[in-house]
Amino acid sequence: PSASPDRIAIRDDHKSCTYTQLLSSASNISRLLSDTDININNKGSSGHGNLGGARIGIVAKPCAEFVAGMLGTWLGGGVAVPLALSHPEAELLHVLNDSDVSVVLSTEDYGETMQSVATKCAAQFSLIPPVSSTFLSSNMTGESQIGQIDENPALIVYTSGTTGKPKGVVHTHKSVYAQMKMLADAWEYTANAEYLIRESFCTLISLTHTIHVHGIFNALLAPLYAGASVEFMPKFSVGSVWKRWRESYPNNGTKADDAITVFTGVPTMYTRLIQGYHAMDPEEQAASAYAARQLRLMMCGSSSLPQPVLNEWETITGHCLLERYGMTEFINAISNPLKGARKAGTVGKPFPGVQLTKESFTHDGFFKTGDACRVDEDGYIVILGRTSADIMKVGGYKLSALEIESHPDIAECCVFGLPDKDYGEVVSAIVVLKSEPKRKLEESNSAFTLEELCSWAKHKLAPYKLPTRLILRDSIPRNAMGKVNKKELKKQLGDGKF
Ligand code: ATP
Ligand code: MG
Repeated sequence: PSASPDRIAIRDDHKSCTYTQLLSSASNISRLLSDTDININNKGSSGHGNLGGARIGIVAKPCAEFVAGMLGTWLGGGVAVPLALSHPEAELLHVLNDSDVSVVLSTEDYGETMQSVATKCAAQFSLIPPVSSTFLSSNMTGESQIGQIDENPALIVYTSGTTGKPKGVVHTHKSVYAQMKMLADAWEYTANAEYLIRESFCTLISLTHTIHVHGIFNALLAPLYAGASVEFMPKFSVGSVWKRWRESYPNNGTKADDAITVFTGVPTMYTRLIQGYHAMDPEEQAASAYAARQLRLMMCGSSSLPQPVLNEWETITGHCLLERYGMTEFINAISNPLKGARKAGTVGKPFPGVQLTKESFTHDGFFKTGDACRVDEDGYIVILGRTSADIMKVGGYKLSALEIESHPDIAECCVFGLPDKDYGEVVSAIVVLKSEPKRKLEESNSAFTLEELCSWAKHKLAPYKLPTRLILRDSIPRNAMGKVNKKELKKQLGDGKF
């Protein structure tokens, strides 16, 4: 980072720390790790520094200590493996063993649990000291460089586990650096020093999000690379997010010193924020909408953003959400632009330097994503979904579930193909109604019907894309990233468990 040393690097619910404090703490942790008895010959293999590429598991809520643990690992030449305590112990052990972790670092709140977990996978255990209490013991400055930018592994991130067991993805120092720089450039996090001094971020953040690339790169590393301030919220809460924006921009035209300027979230967060907005009284709504309008940038990614959500968000806040596409394997690859047209229903165009091919992870090294897409007439990319769960074959037609998942009365919807002997598959929709239409229907003792859904949808969709089965529910199960495991849902439906 090239930040000013006294600038706030991280704010969490307890405190804030400057870049100097954060880097001092990181340097302390790297010394602490170097003193740990790590059997480098058996665990980890390559890399520089004292840790020689040993894998260091980091378990903490999104907080300054989590970031110090990650930077400290890099300073010492280790590979950071961010983990969440929300995983059941068996899954945690799977990840710790799978990534061959030598040392588990955690904050005090998780200390006891993680010490016992570490013992079970023959890893050392160490507590991360509170950031503020360590900073005086080091002479690090804001100009220090974290790790060498080389081809050695820096980070192992696990996929969201939407289609199966989470898979560990290794990123090198070079790929981490390239991604941070790419994002900072694309969203002008580095526009000019004066501007950056005022740039700060409210990140998504719940317990799990700093273990996935959305949180790690978009909400944490890219802003830190640019020298901005990152704010963690202990967990995603609709009321707290709206409140934080209102405090940033009071309705009298002023702007707080620590005002939030950028926000990034997954689609379900925006759905919930919209619901929260509608539950406010008119005065609070006015103040909230005013405040949200003042942010510089609002982004969305990680799964498909339904168009009604995008439209309603724009009506309330004036922001056309910047939607982008990425995956753990390559982080961010495609995005709508910061400036210029953001096209609803698309994820934009490849970032500079990113190439797409039809036949990916082929002999020449391109990666096969498992996602189907098409390129529209302006070169914008439309994600059609996962070939394994979102693409259906109905009577000889291939179609995408994502195109069908939108209706103004619907809060959440999940479309997939169910086996059918005549058509191969039939389009089936699980629907959660918005509370207001649901209330009205209940009052009039009527139900939301397939016919109604289809009579609305027939103006937008070809006849073969219309759902032929409707399943009404109060909620749809989602994983920590707000994604639906359609394969699992189909199985549960088949077994009569959902
Ligand atoms: P697993 O690989 O363990 O099954 P996962 O694929 O959900 O889980 P991630 O790497 O976190 O794990 O997510 C990447 C996937 O998320 C992409 O392959 C794509 O299907 C989906 N995705 C990400 N961004 C978007 C977007 N803007 N629109 C549609 N889908 C998206
Ligand atoms: Mg995946």
